[in-house]
Amino acid sequence: MRRVLVVEDEAAIREVIALNLRMAGYDVTEAPSAEAALAAMSGGVPFDVAVLDIMLPGMNGFSLCENIRRDSDSVGIIMLSAKSQEDDKIRGLSIGADDYMTKPFSVSELLARVDALCRRVARAAGSNAESGPEAEGRMVSGSFVLDQKSRILYKNGQPIDLTQVEFQIMELFFANPGVALVREKILEGVWGENYYGDVKIVDVNIRRLRMKIEDEPSAPRHIMTVWGYGYRWNS
Ligand code: CA
Repeated sequence: MRRVLVVEDEAAIREVIALNLRMAGYDVTEAPSAEAALAAMSGGVPFDVAVLDIMLPGMNGFSLCENIRRDSDSVGIIMLSAKSQEDDKIRGLSIGADDYMTKPFSVSELLARVDALCRRVARAAGSNAESGPEAEGRMVSGSFVLDQKSRILYKNGQPIDLTQVEFQIMELFFANPGVALVREKILEGVWGENYYGDVKIVDVNIRRLRMKIEDEPSAPRHIMTVWGYGYRWNS
């Protein structure tokens, strides 16, 4: 069973997150502070994913993230921020967080991100075991490069910041250039077979990806719509 650590001092929020994760089949440990989180991480089976609120009493979420990263690259980290400040996001991602969400967020979106991160963590562990660190490489498609180690997309050498979900959609596209992908396949490939969300979440993420990577998001040249079906990647 996948293990998730939820670090949040506000009991009501922490309990809602924990309850929903448990209903989704995760083994959840709750911590009301960074200090309690470090104690929970110091013994026993490692966690797959840690959800860290930034605003905590005592040590804050940023320091906690740095502390965790000193010991482990393998645990997935999602940071929660009460304010939608770009500085917080950049800081969080620069010190090793994998994903970032702004409150208020939908629990279903958090679950989707935890699930995606769990599968990425599992995949990274598997590839290291099978073929060594060189398994983490770069995927190239036209003027785009996906750096799987830093999880950054480059377009003409310029970095584009993607969420884990967006990154995984791009991996799927890069692995299937020129192929029309039905939306259900994208949903399954990124969110997992047991994800009960609507395929509309694919459209929402495609819209966001187009804003980030297309010169003219309303007239895309890379992420093409296949009407009544899904999407096709054009490098
Ligand atoms: Ca808090």
